[in-house]
Amino acid sequence: MASRDERRHHHPDLVPLAALISKELRSEKMEKPTVRYGHAAQSRKGEDYFLMKTDCQRVPGNSSSTFSVFAIFDGHNGNAAAVYTREHLLSHVLGAIPHGLGRDEWLQALPRALVAGFVKTDKEFQSRGETSGTTATFVIVDRWTVTVASVGDSRCILDAQGGAVSTLTVDHRLEENVEERERVAASGGEVGRLSIVGGAEIGPLRCWPGGLCLSRSIGDMDVGEFIVPIPYVKQVKLSSAGGRLIIASDGIWDSLSSETAAQSCRGLPAELAARQVVKEALRTRGLKDDTTCIVVDVVPLDNSLPPSPPPKKHNKLKTLLFRKKSHDSANKLSKKLSAVGIVEELFEEGSAMLAERLGNDECTVPSTSGLFTCAVCQVDLAPSEGISVHAGGIFSTSSIPWQGPFLCADCRYKKDAMEGKRPSGVKVA
Ligand SMILES: [Zn+2]
Repeated sequence: MASRDERRHHHPDLVPLAALISKELRSEKMEKPTVRYGHAAQSRKGEDYFLMKTDCQRVPGNSSSTFSVFAIFDGHNGNAAAVYTREHLLSHVLGAIPHGLGRDEWLQALPRALVAGFVKTDKEFQSRGETSGTTATFVIVDRWTVTVASVGDSRCILDAQGGAVSTLTVDHRLEENVEERERVAASGGEVGRLSIVGGAEIGPLRCWPGGLCLSRSIGDMDVGEFIVPIPYVKQVKLSSAGGRLIIASDGIWDSLSSETAAQSCRGLPAELAARQVVKEALRTRGLKDDTTCIVVDVVPLDNSLPPSPPPKKHNKLKTLLFRKKSHDSANKLSKKLSAVGIVEELFEEGSAMLAERLGNDECTVPSTSGLFTCAVCQVDLAPSEGISVHAGGIFSTSSIPWQGPFLCADCRYKKDAMEGKRPSGVKVA
């Protein structure tokens, strides 16, 4: 652009900045991190399942579009839901991403695709008529960008280079999560503890009918529909110094705090680190539950070492300050320069409302057949069939019901059920 060149002439002090920016962009392009990973588990009930897949490709056949997936599924009431989710969740998520996107657009499309994939997996599993449910913590690592989607309480933490530990998931447990407790109650669930003979109450808060301690899961057709499969999603970009992810089932987190788990394995390579975390949890509490841990190191290409222990003065740092992504593109490049060592937060959303999570379609992309598709299950819809995700809402304005994304009748029914307003109920106007 001519104007930029003119400015450069008038302000020679900007030249080094421009050079620095282009140098940074160039090196970022070249620097793909190395992903090292390991896994360890001790089984008690045989209901923990996991997935580690490092050869996924955004563009089939193009090795430079490779990304990795790591996931933990902690089943309850049997293992059927965990097994099914392990088999199908990845393809359901990828199937909800429009074709032909570039890398940045693909990453931006992920949060919504994750919501669609989780709901589709839940809907399909429930249609098989099997009881049982599962947590799902699903982590996609694409170069330095980490996207985590989760229902339930299989936590994923990030030990960023420098020793700052943060949680990339939210625990969907009724006992600890007040917001979820209120949502479940507002949708018609009863929250309370088990009572034993004599009236004494024991154990954690549960949701009735069903008696589940979790407020979100995949499966669980025999509990209320307010136990939803809509995941909390967080997307962050690591600094080029990298970091370590620890993904584990509650067998770990009931014994160890995030901080303790991270500290217990610092300096060890991923495989040994996973074993060390499991060992530490068993030492603390014994084998009370299935205990599964995946450790993923995202490190610079030339760095064969795992994240090193932090310098002493940083040991007291308990929380990581995320830097919000700037929407101001003019500001973006200069901010990038100051991002050394800081994790950039790209996306975070935890609402249980499907309409909020699917958002508005700014550019509805018709499927290859020229029809619209259901935003959740991806079936083709004739123009007359699709029901806008926004239709029928109490606050909807007249124009919104015609706006995408659209749902098939089945998914629309599921959406209403999850929000406690089935057509048979009294809440719908
Ligand atoms: Zn559908």
